[in-house]
Amino acid sequence: MENTKHFDKKVYIETMGCQMNKSDTERILGMLSHFGYEQTEDAKNADLLIVNTCSIRQLSADKAYSLVGVWGKWKQEEHKKELEGKPFRDIKVAFCGCVAQQDKEKLLKRFPYVDLVFGTNNVYELPDLIRRINTGERVCATNETPKKFTEGEEEAKYEIKRAKSLNAWIPIMEGCNNFCTYCIVPFTRGRERSRKPSEIIDEAKKAIKEGFKEITLLGQNVDSYGKTLDKDKDYDGRDVTLANLLRDLNKIDGKFRIRFVTSYPTDITDDLIHAVKECDKVCEFFHIPMQSGNSKVLKEMNRRYNREEYGEIVKKIRDTFEDVAITSDFIAGFPGETEEEFLDTMSAIDEFELDYSNTAAYSPRVKTKAAKWTDRFIDEDTKFERLARLNEKNRQACLKSNEKCIGKIFEILVESFEEKEGKIILAGRARNNKIVHFEGEKNLVGEFVNVKITGASTWHLRGEICSEAGIR
Ligand code: SF4
Repeated sequence: MENTKHFDKKVYIETMGCQMNKSDTERILGMLSHFGYEQTEDAKNADLLIVNTCSIRQLSADKAYSLVGVWGKWKQEEHKKELEGKPFRDIKVAFCGCVAQQDKEKLLKRFPYVDLVFGTNNVYELPDLIRRINTGERVCATNETPKKFTEGEEEAKYEIKRAKSLNAWIPIMEGCNNFCTYCIVPFTRGRERSRKPSEIIDEAKKAIKEGFKEITLLGQNVDSYGKTLDKDKDYDGRDVTLANLLRDLNKIDGKFRIRFVTSYPTDITDDLIHAVKECDKVCEFFHIPMQSGNSKVLKEMNRRYNREEYGEIVKKIRDTFEDVAITSDFIAGFPGETEEEFLDTMSAIDEFELDYSNTAAYSPRVKTKAAKWTDRFIDEDTKFERLARLNEKNRQACLKSNEKCIGKIFEILVESFEEKEGKIILAGRARNNKIVHFEGEKNLVGEFVNVKITGASTWHLRGEICSEAGIR
């Protein structure tokens, strides 16, 4: 495929799911921009329509199917124009991401107007795949074993088309070996593998040079980074760990922040906690999914810790930092979960003083162990009633956590502004990831300012700019 340099086609991409998908989207757009595809926000105007899917929950997969259904109608309308000899657009429709990886050819069968299905391990074959669909072929490319990771070779040839934001997502590892009994990720993203430190550091340096003010290191189990690498071959004899990678990234010149998600509780080492403490650019924020507050349910989920062990990790982190936020994920209505077991989840949010939690009702996913335990499924009403209680508990916990911030001074990275009643209201994030609103000037977007917190509501803080230094 020729590198056209000029844009003669438009691509629209709808991204669902996690940050890893957002990062994949940026890479896909970067690659396509080398082959004449310019991103458009207007799907109706696009020559290539891509849905980057998430298979964590059925709801998200259903959303992707219905979107592709709409695109199929557009394609049929264009085809009708073609038959009538009128000007028409040759629309191509593609599925990628986790649903594509999971459903493969089934998607081509189910959606006859879909031209391309490419999996999470095939992003880097995209130039060839696009060439093939443009010659009229319908293609499914979903390798089970990752041929290339997001580094080197193909990747190096193409820039990443990052979203217009202050934060650059940088994948450092992908896949998972844990096989939690409810989770589809090991099936869609494959086994764990890590990128070489030198390539991550180069990508981070480039992002900082381009003006990004924050980099977020991504991985399904980000704190098990490096296990698939060789310390002599890949890191000059140093242990390849997230802690050492953070130390190296912290040495890059410039004013910027570093974050990392998502952590697996028992992979958080003392050295990682020390590295976060030592490195002034690394934010004091840990996202550590607990999933259930009950040890028996955790065992059935195949999580490698119990309630007490999770609590010990949280305590260690809280004892290390003056100000730190710990957030979590929880599932309501896991197969066989009793009311008492569910109440343990509710009490865990209080006991561990979690600052925020993502919550979801259990959703059976094909191939996973728990999906086969149909005789233990919780009925939908109970499941969603538990979810509603969990959400209310989370709301109260967030408010409590935010109220504790009143009077503190935080360093805020200003992300956006809006005009309200003749005033400019800025919004930004503290190092602990809390959102803060305050009055200021538009030109502060992209800058770091110190803000004294004067008020708290459930989902954000309010404050005023001050000259004193914030919590680092
Ligand atoms: S640790 Fe468990 S929940 Fe997380 S990606 Fe791996 S299998 Fe899924």
